Amino acid sequence: MKHVDDNFIDGKWSKAGGSERTTVVNPTTEADYATVAHGSRMDVASAAEAAAKAFPDWSSMAAGARAAILERTLKEIENRTDAFVEAMAREIGVPVWFGKMLQLPMPLRNGAVAVEAIRSMRWREFMGPSLVSRVPVGVIGAITPWNAPLHQIVAKVMAALAAGCTVILKPSEIAPSTAILFTESLAAAGLPPGAFNMVWGGPEVGSAICSHPDIDMVSFTGSERVGMAVAEAAGRRGKRVVLELGGKSAAVILDDAPLEKAIPAVLTSCFANSGQTCVAQSRMVVPRRLRGEIEDLCRDAMKTWTVGDPLDPSTRLGPLATSAHYRRVREYIARGAAEGAKAIEGSGERIEPERGYFVLPTVFSRVEPSMIIATEEIFGPVLSVIAYDDEREAIAIANDTSYGLSGSVWGSDNERALRVACQLRTGQVSLNGAPQNFLTPFGGFKKSGFGRENGRFGVEEFLQYQAIHGAAAVPDA
Ligand code: NAD
Repeated sequence: MKHVDDNFIDGKWSKAGGSERTTVVNPTTEADYATVAHGSRMDVASAAEAAAKAFPDWSSMAAGARAAILERTLKEIENRTDAFVEAMAREIGVPVWFGKMLQLPMPLRNGAVAVEAIRSMRWREFMGPSLVSRVPVGVIGAITPWNAPLHQIVAKVMAALAAGCTVILKPSEIAPSTAILFTESLAAAGLPPGAFNMVWGGPEVGSAICSHPDIDMVSFTGSERVGMAVAEAAGRRGKRVVLELGGKSAAVILDDAPLEKAIPAVLTSCFANSGQTCVAQSRMVVPRRLRGEIEDLCRDAMKTWTVGDPLDPSTRLGPLATSAHYRRVREYIARGAAEGAKAIEGSGERIEPERGYFVLPTVFSRVEPSMIIATEEIFGPVLSVIAYDDEREAIAIANDTSYGLSGSVWGSDNERALRVACQLRTGQVSLNGAPQNFLTPFGGFKKSGFGRENGRFGVEEFLQYQAIHGAAAVPDA
């Protein structure tokens, strides 16, 4: 078993000083896989001191020099691809196909876009006699979840470093290897000591970050419940906050949609990573008259979702990440049946592996918008099919959620699909399966959070404007 004992502070690995330890369980075998020592409030204070000390040099370094270090970091990450993919399979059950197809390529692309952004950014401009500059916010506390562990770390840490900020990361305590490999990549790329620091821990370390006076901003990704506590604790101390929270995204199927293409794609969005993605399209809003045909297509598409060992390349669906989460998702499935939704045949038919936190993919049809399975984020492979009678009702159902992260619209008439998409109250919408474009901003409306990641928008989140008046002489009128 692997034991993780050290934080990374001021360029060095040093013993974590907290009294707790998290045991990481391999969700496929249910065997203990690693333990992680938690840091203490003192460790957060040491990390904040190191980050504050490193800030003047890192923030005043030419953007091109910062970009070169970050580019080398991306190369170092890429060189460790197999180690990242294997660690994600063993610690959180990510199937290797998904690790290779998305969990690694997404942060690599995202990091490259942040680097491009600072190379082309207009850092200073004159407005009359005044100089307006984009300056880094300062010391950043970054708190990340486990479900796309590298992506979430890169989206915050690389964007913040690119902006000229220095960082204290508190990664998820149940996916430690990703954070260790990332830290090694930064160190190998020659990042100066103190620019990046990492402290292990759970809520106690997260809340120490939110309250430390020398941390200027907290960027958080995780659940709505914890996000609200982070916003409150950090806001009380006047810190800037970015929240990337959950979702209950809808795929709107219009009556002229290419169903053969749309239905398998919606199931992929809902089931990939065992449904543990914030952007999962976990509601499918369908024309009532096409519901029977759509149920048949769901039944066919579900057969392709082979469940098994995430290290087996033929496995499409691994286990859920933890036993607590496994229990929670199964409770939601039982609740859906109890509420009167109809589980489509195939949802519960395959034999589950004897061990491991495996939940079979489930499609519920005849779901009413008010049912719990249609309103709460399940974060598991559970899709709710909801019928509508006209386009206006479809839009109303899609928007009838406290979340607003993502969604999709499917239809043969692109203009109509775009018109519908523009009425969805979510941060991003895909038309007919168009992939995410990392140059564009990513983030939520409503309880999915505020602030943006990705591209120059993600870097700008860590910048603030400064105006210096009288910086240039005004020419005589
Ligand atoms: P979580 O909220 O339980 O934990 C997230 C992080 O917060 C972890 O590092 C955890 O240790 C830390 N934390 C816990 N309590 C804290 C406290 N009181 N103060 C400060 N930090 C604290 O979330 P999770 O289970 O790790 O992740 C799943 C959730 O994340 C889902 O809701 C999912 O939708 C969301 N998510 C959102 C996005 C997005 O970009 N919008 C991306 C991925 C995941």
